[in-house]
Parts: sequence; C-alpha cells; structure tokens
Amino acid sequence: MYPERVVSGMRPTGTMHLGHYHGALKNWIRMQSEQQCLFFVADWHALTTHYDDPAIIEKSTWDMVIDWLAAGIDPSQATIFIQSRVPEHAELHLLLSMATPLGWLERVPTYKDQIENLASKDLATYGFLGYPLLQAADVLIYRASQVPVGEDQVPHIEMTREIARRFNHLYGKEPGFEQKAAEAVKKLGSKRARLYMELRTAYQQEGDEDALEQARAMLDDAGSLSMIDRERLFGYLEGSRKLILVEPQARLTEASRLPGLDGRKMSKSYGNAISLREERDSVTRKIRTMPTDPARVRRTDPGEPTRCPVFQLHQVYSDEPTREWVLKGCRSAGIGCIECKQPVIDAVLEEQEPMRERAQQYLDDPSLVRAIVADGCETARRLAHDTMRDVREAMGLAYT
Ligand code: SF4
Repeated sequence: MYPERVVSGMRPTGTMHLGHYHGALKNWIRMQSEQQCLFFVADWHALTTHYDDPAIIEKSTWDMVIDWLAAGIDPSQATIFIQSRVPEHAELHLLLSMATPLGWLERVPTYKDQIENLASKDLATYGFLGYPLLQAADVLIYRASQVPVGEDQVPHIEMTREIARRFNHLYGKEPGFEQKAAEAVKKLGSKRARLYMELRTAYQQEGDEDALEQARAMLDDAGSLSMIDRERLFGYLEGSRKLILVEPQARLTEASRLPGLDGRKMSKSYGNAISLREERDSVTRKIRTMPTDPARVRRTDPGEPTRCPVFQLHQVYSDEPTREWVLKGCRSAGIGCIECKQPVIDAVLEEQEPMRERAQQYLDDPSLVRAIVADGCETARRLAHDTMRDVREAMGLAYT
C-alpha cells in the first residue's frame, strides 16, 4: 500500500478570516502532526471563477501562506506549495479528462449551485465544468489516502474515487500480470503465501471484507516484497489489475462554523468577517458594534441570548461559567451588552496574538515565505513525478 497521506487546498481569492481558521485551519494543524500532510494554494482553482480578475490571485497567494504559517501550520511537519508550480497536476487533469464521462462532471451537485450563486459571472466555461476533475487530479497525483472535507464536498471525493477506479480498470492491465502476481505470492514465503491465497479466495468468492483487510495488513508487514510486487499483490487481491491511483477517503471535518458579526456564516462577501490578523482596535470596534437581540432596546430590557449573534460567539469562545453568566445576566437585564461582549473581545484578541507574532517575521522578511514555498514545491513535484511516471507508462506514453 502507498503511505498514508492527507492533501488539502484553499483558493486564494481574498483575505483569510477567523471562519477559515475555525472551519479548516485548526483541523490542518491537528492533522499535520498525525500524518504526512500536503497543503496547497489552489491558484488554478481560483482562476476557474476569477479568470477575468486574476490580479487578486498573486497577492492573496502570499498573504494566504503567511496566514497559514501564522495560524500554526508548521513547514517542518507539513508540505506547503502552490498548485501551478507543480505542472504535473495539469498533466494528470488532462489525461484523466480523456476517460471521464461528461455526465459525471455535470451531475456534481455544487456545479449547478455555484452557477446559480455566482449568477453575475459567466461560468459556462470549460475550466469551470472541469474543476472537480482538476480537484480529483490534485488528490490522485499524491496518492492521498484522506482528504479533509465538509459535508458539501463529499460528492467530489466520491467522484474522485470513481475516477481512480475507472483509471485502474482501464489502464491497470499489465502484460503477464497473473504470472507476475503468482511469482510475487511465492516471495511471501510458503506459510504467508497460502494464507494470502485463502484470504483472496474468501474475498473474491464470498465478498469477505475482513479477509480483504487481513490480507492488506499482511502485505503491509511483508518486508520481503519490493514496492512493485506489493502493489501487484494489492491489485491481485481485488481482481487482476495493478492499483496505479489510490481511492481516497473523505475525512469529514467537524462542522465548527464560526458565525460572522451578524450571525450569518462568516464570509468576506457578507461584510461580517474578522480577518485572521486584523488590528486589535478594529477587532474591538467590530465586536462592540455588533448587532444584539433586537428586543434589548434599553439597558433595562431583558434579552434572549439564543436570538443574539454575540451569544453565538460566546459558544465558540467562552467556557461554561461565562456562558451561564450571559444567559442569566441577559435574561434578567443584569448585564449590559457592552459588558457581555468584553469576554468575546478578550478571547478573540488572545487567539490572534500568537498569530500576529508569528506573521511578523514573515512580513519583515518575505524571502522566508518564498523559501518555504520553494521547498514545498520541490517535495510535491518529487511525489507527483513518481505517480506520473506510472500513469504515463500505463497509458502508453513512457517512450522508453
Ligand atoms: S446581553 Fe449579550 S446575549 Fe444579551 S442581547 Fe446583549 S450582547 Fe446579546
């Protein structure tokens, strides 16, 4: 089996805000110490919707990488790179497009939604229709085992899995595969070889998933096998094909959605966001002027926290005793709204403080950011190159 890997990207289309931090970056930070992670700036994806306004992309790309580093992405643990600096993504996208039925792309639910949501833009483009396939290439090129996604992105991962399966089916045929697999089985040693064949039969004849898992675990442990023999035996377990591309799993991220200053989802386009490294005074002013429960016209009017956007922020930022204090104090008019907002202001500023500090060194010396990205691009290209060598060979494009 290929090593466990996580791949995820973000589109550089503007400043990052605390909604991004709570919705995605905190997960990335957790994952980077658990698994090999590759995080990329999806600049080609940004072009699918911003093809007529590319000026924003370059600046947002560098700002975004600084935001990632400020938030706690650690380049010594995770690989940070820019999608367009690894042109193999485009090559795989093109090759996958040869065998991807058009209907698969048209039925991706977010395709129609996005066209409706962004009605002011002409998205009847070839690039926009193909963006889920480009996303598939972004993941498959690293043989990623997991992709962190929200609920709405699960269909994209499903399609990525179908594309990998179809590719392996079409191109995983290897001349003399059965014989090469049989020779690889012998290399397991007689006891393991017998067990492998029994488990294979149990899976292929009775669909025994446990047998499949057991056989895979055995192959993972079989130090006597070369990489290529191991892959052959993985493919042989399930059929008679080599597994060239890996079917990734969706790793559902916790739905921690930070509400914006007006209670709706935090989004730059709603004008209700606090950016990741926003100035302290601006953060304080924005929270102080947030709307509250409309029933609290006067200080003496009792309110209802469940109708108030400030309380939604307390649910993210405050501990249980503080939330109790708000519930009681608001409903009895025992506290005023400014008083109620102060713990949120303090918590947001405290959360941002280390981010501002970490960002400063990169703002002072942008060459540090360039160097991190250059290293990341090199690592990513090396991994992408390995996959493309197998893909080209499988599709008859090796020209050796
Ligand atoms: S006291 Fe707090 S929860 Fe109640 S209305 Fe004012 S800001 Fe909202």
